[in-house]
Amino acid sequence: MTIDRARLRTLLAREQEEFQAAHPNSRALFERARKSLLGGVPMNWMVRSPGSFPIFVREASGARFTDVDGRSYLDLGLGDTGAMTGHAPAASVAAIAERARRGITFMLPTEDAIWVGEELARRFGLPFWQTTLTATDANRFAIRLARHVTKRKKILVFNWCYHGTVDETFATLSRGVVGPRSGNLGPPVNPSETTRVVEFNDLPALEAALAHGDVACVLAEPALTNIGIVHPEPGFHAALREMTRRAGTLLVIDETHTISAGPGGYTRAHGLAPDILTIGKPIAGGMPAAVYGLSAEVADRIRAATNVEEADTGGIGGTLAGNALSLAAMRATLEHVLTEEAYARTIPLARRFVEGVEGVIAEHGLPWHVTQLGCRAEYWFRATRPKNGAEAAASIDSELDRYMHLAALNRGILMTPFHSMALICPATTEADVDLHTRVFRESVEALAAG
Ligand code: PMP
Repeated sequence: MTIDRARLRTLLAREQEEFQAAHPNSRALFERARKSLLGGVPMNWMVRSPGSFPIFVREASGARFTDVDGRSYLDLGLGDTGAMTGHAPAASVAAIAERARRGITFMLPTEDAIWVGEELARRFGLPFWQTTLTATDANRFAIRLARHVTKRKKILVFNWCYHGTVDETFATLSRGVVGPRSGNLGPPVNPSETTRVVEFNDLPALEAALAHGDVACVLAEPALTNIGIVHPEPGFHAALREMTRRAGTLLVIDETHTISAGPGGYTRAHGLAPDILTIGKPIAGGMPAAVYGLSAEVADRIRAATNVEEADTGGIGGTLAGNALSLAAMRATLEHVLTEEAYARTIPLARRFVEGVEGVIAEHGLPWHVTQLGCRAEYWFRATRPKNGAEAAASIDSELDRYMHLAALNRGILMTPFHSMALICPATTEADVDLHTRVFRESVEALAAG
C-alpha cells in the first residue's frame, strides 16, 4: 500500500476538527497561557503537540491520565520515559511525601545516597556514583570529566543521537562533514570544533575518527532511541569497546532510554563495560534526578586530577543536585518499582504490542516496520530496520506522523511526542495493548480506504 497524500491531508484535517471540538477547556487554558508563557507553554517543545494546542493534564495514575476536559487516556508516551514507572508509583510517592515532611534539600548528604550508590553499583557494575538533576547534566559532567582526565578536546557521538541539551552533541554529519544540527539555537561554537560524528554501526569510520588521538570520550546510547530505534549490529559493542580502549578514549554509555532493556539497562543485559554510565528520567519515579557512574580506574584518575578546594567552582555543580528528596525518590523507585518483577511483566507486553502492530503492517502491505527494546517499542515508516541514524532520518514523514499521533489521541491513546514510540509500564495491561492495536488498525484502514 502506498500513502495517498491528498487522502492523508483530508484525514488530518478531520482529526484536527475532532480534536478542537473535544477539548474546549484545554483550548481556553491555552489561550490564557499565551498571555504569560512564551508560546503558551511552560517548555518550548510542548508547542509541537499533535493537536493545534496541547492538552492540559488534570491527573494521572499508572498507565492513564485525565485531561481538563474530563477525557481519559492510555498513556503510551509516559513522559518519554520519565514516567516509565507508571504515573505516581505508590512506593515513590510515599517516600517523597515522607521525605518532604522532614526537609527537602540541605547541601548535605542523607543515608539514602549510600543505599542508592550501592544499588547502582550492583545493577550496572560500576563502583562509584554521583548525582545530578537531569540526564543532560549527567552527560555534560561526564564529558567535562572525560576531557579533564584525558586532556583531550573532542568528543565523538553517533549521527542523529540525542543526549539532552548538551552543546557538544548538537552536531550532525552531512556528506562526511560535521556541522550544527538544524534548529540548533545559538551554538557557542561550530560543533565541528568540539565533536566528531560518525554513523552508528560504521566501525571503519569510528576507527578512523579515533585515530586522530584527540577524542576524550565516545558518548553513545547502546542502541539509538531518538531517531526511531536503531539496534547495534552483532559485534558492534565489542568493537566499540576495543577501539576506544586502544585509542585511550573513554566510553560513556547513556542508559536514559535503554533502561527499558532491564533493571541494569542494556549494559547489564548485554554485558557492556563502559568507563562512565549516565542515566536520568525514570530512576526517581518522575522526580528530577539523574546519576553517573564511574569505573574504579576513572574514579582514580579523577581523584588524582582534581582539587578539593575548587570542588564548588570546577564546572560540575547544581545546588539542588543530590537533594534529599530526589534521593529518597530514587531509593524507593529502585527498591520497589523498577524491579526484576516489573520488567518480567512489561517486556512481554511490549512483545505483544509489536506483534499487534506487525500484524496490521502485514495485512495492509505497508512499507513500515516495528521494533522492540525491552519494554519499549516503536514503528517507523520504512520497510526494514535502519542501520544508522541517516537511514532512519531519511524516512521521517512529519505529516504521516502527525496523523498517526492525532488519530491515536482522538481515540484515547497518547504516543510519545516526536516519534512513534510506545512504552509499557507495570500498570499497562494486555487489554491496553490490544486497544492500541485496534486504534492503529483503524487509523491505517482510514488511510487505505477511499
Ligand atoms: N539521554 C537520552 C538518551 C535522552 O533521550 C534524553 C532526553 N530525551 C536525555 C539524555 C536528556 O534527558 P533530560 O532532558 O531529562 O535531561
